[in-house]
Amino acid sequence: MKEMPDILWLEEIRKEDIAAVGGKGASLGEMSSMGLPVPGGFVVTSRAFRHFLIETGIEQPLFSNLENLNVDDNNALEQASKKARALVMKAKMPASLKERIRESYQKLNGGGMVVAVRSSATAEDLPDASFAGQQETFLNIKGEKNLLDAVQKCWASLYGARAIYYRAKQGFDDRSVNIAVVVQQMINSEKAGVMFTSHPVTGEPLTIIEGSWGLGEAVVSGSVSPDKYVYDQRTGNVIDRLIAQKKTEIVSDGEHGTKTLDIGKERQETSVLSDEEVARLATFGKIAETHYGIPQDIEWSIVGETMYILQSRPITTIRSGATQVKTETGEGKILVKGQGASPGVATGRVVVIRDVKDTGSVQAGDILVTKMTNPDMVPAMQKVAAIVTDEGGMTCHAAIVSRELGTPAVVGTRNATSVLKPGQLITVDGEKGFIYEGALEKPSQAQAPVAAITASPLITATSVKVNVSIPGAAARAAATGADGVGLLRIEHLILGLNKTPGWFIANGREEEFIDELYKGIKIVLDAFNGKPVWVRTLDAPTDEFRNMAGGENEPHEHNPMLGWRGIRRDLQSPDQFRLQVEAFKRLWEKGYDNLGVMFPMVSHPEEFIAAREMMAEWGVDVNAATLGVMIEIPSCAIMIEDFIHAGIDFASFGTNDLVQYTLAIDRNNENVASMYQPKHPAVLALIDQAIEVCRDHGVECSICGQAGSEPPMVTWLVEHGITSVSANIDAIAKIRETVARTEQRIILESARRSHAE
Ligand code: PEP
Ligand code: MG
Repeated sequence: MKEMPDILWLEEIRKEDIAAVGGKGASLGEMSSMGLPVPGGFVVTSRAFRHFLIETGIEQPLFSNLENLNVDDNNALEQASKKARALVMKAKMPASLKERIRESYQKLNGGGMVVAVRSSATAEDLPDASFAGQQETFLNIKGEKNLLDAVQKCWASLYGARAIYYRAKQGFDDRSVNIAVVVQQMINSEKAGVMFTSHPVTGEPLTIIEGSWGLGEAVVSGSVSPDKYVYDQRTGNVIDRLIAQKKTEIVSDGEHGTKTLDIGKERQETSVLSDEEVARLATFGKIAETHYGIPQDIEWSIVGETMYILQSRPITTIRSGATQVKTETGEGKILVKGQGASPGVATGRVVVIRDVKDTGSVQAGDILVTKMTNPDMVPAMQKVAAIVTDEGGMTCHAAIVSRELGTPAVVGTRNATSVLKPGQLITVDGEKGFIYEGALEKPSQAQAPVAAITASPLITATSVKVNVSIPGAAARAAATGADGVGLLRIEHLILGLNKTPGWFIANGREEEFIDELYKGIKIVLDAFNGKPVWVRTLDAPTDEFRNMAGGENEPHEHNPMLGWRGIRRDLQSPDQFRLQVEAFKRLWEKGYDNLGVMFPMVSHPEEFIAAREMMAEWGVDVNAATLGVMIEIPSCAIMIEDFIHAGIDFASFGTNDLVQYTLAIDRNNENVASMYQPKHPAVLALIDQAIEVCRDHGVECSICGQAGSEPPMVTWLVEHGITSVSANIDAIAKIRETVARTEQRIILESARRSHAE
């Protein structure tokens, strides 16, 4: 075998060199070899680290210190970690190695260059095992002494308590784990961000770029709301842009590290990228995607006129074309089964969450396994590669949020939290509902994008709208080209604050609540400029409030689904209702006349009339406002004509609830999930007659329940005359196609009939 050098330059490295340079080093080398503008640099290889251990004589004490360590004993783990790190830090780096690192640094622009020093760990026996995020990175390092110190700190970080724990749980022998260190020109980005080379949910040839001022860490960590650009590769045009208010930036701090600065007013709402820059970045993205044969998630940065590509990795959320998954062993051993609630295949380590307080331990790329998710878990849900729950059906909280995030999910497994073990490597197939042991055989095949979507946009007579729950998903939702938002659930805007509405009221913090709601809804309205956005008033069953501050005052109900939720709660809690109305009122006053308000869980027209009267009392011009109801309770479907006489402007089927209330099937109960049938004749009969009445009166009739994301149901709805459908982000492309096909078939059949007559 060829002797591995201590130092390798990025341009000499190929992806096969992973054992020498770790995953990060190999990926950077591969990118520079394909001509992407990767900042220059070199890698202190894993061999150099081995030399260091042997020549300094610390190898033996280091590994015996870790032998027989009980990593579940926190104290012992901390002690062992401290000792190991001290051994590495106190050892003197061999002079010859120091010299080689110095020489290489000198070659980088004469030695005065500011560099980023990043750990790139690897395992001898399993070189592509992922240790991402376990070891440290040091930014803004200048001078030989600081560089040598940072390299040694990276090595020491291989023995951080978390890293030791992780390896022990994965069954890695500490002796076989190596670390390389990437030393790379530090780019003091004026602007930076991330890019998806294809649409991350549908796989459409749309490049989605997010960017903000300063270093990319601000975008990657989510500390700033970035600008968003959607570039259509078919036409070469920027088809959508959302300019966010960028309040802070992360910049280099003098000679060492980084700091966060406030952004001056004038730059906060200035577009970060020009159309020309978007197009250039998209071209680099395409080169990477073509090279790797799979859409990429790329980090980029710009200084003056110069663009840099900092990292590229496969997008993991695109729906699988072929979901035939094989594990490493090829056997595809199924550990747990449930309902496939959000399509896609993802591999990762299990993290079992028994209490929302534990979500702090969730790392990007983990697989979240829990009894049932709650709105206060959404921040953690946004980080993970997949979600698995014991409870729930297709319309439970976990299912709805996962689909919106484009994260694969399996719900209603009954026993995932006891069968799956923390740290275990698993693969989740969110379409079939299977959880396999181990990793995918070939992620790139299993995650191939769906077939290309039609080249020209489909125009349908039936509007195809999209459901949104999280403002962060608004730009992605708008990028689908949907005709508006048929349901904006505001629970997440509020519940993400981790305090109940009652808490804000009891603590005199109403203004904060109104402001949060106002800002969240505004993001969605801005993303759908000129298109209708139907915002639903608060609808969270009491059990969803319980974990939050103020939740202790929530009543304990036998059947929260049949309890104090939706409009019935708002009518009895005018304080809570008024805060929501105040936010809507301010938005209308700002000129957002695309905002419509929809009341959930109405069972009698009197409730609609009462809600409207209260709004009028609080100063809303109810004659000008667009107000409608969700048809979720059979009584509402049956009495729809009375609702129309009461003055609704629209109605939308909330089939998630309509099915449970028509068939007496708790939508969150996995024991009866197989009986949950949106196409049950009784449900269809209710829908059919309500559509007909709405048509007769010229009132818009829509659907925003999960059934509106299912093609067979949508075919039936279009045939029966529905005026619009609102689907999940991931389903828009297929629903639009379903609607178009059905409409064309109806026209064709009618033409044929008249021809025959
Ligand atoms: C529904 O009931 O169909 C609906 C869309 O509302 P939710 O799922 O939030 O109850
Ligand atoms: Mg509902």
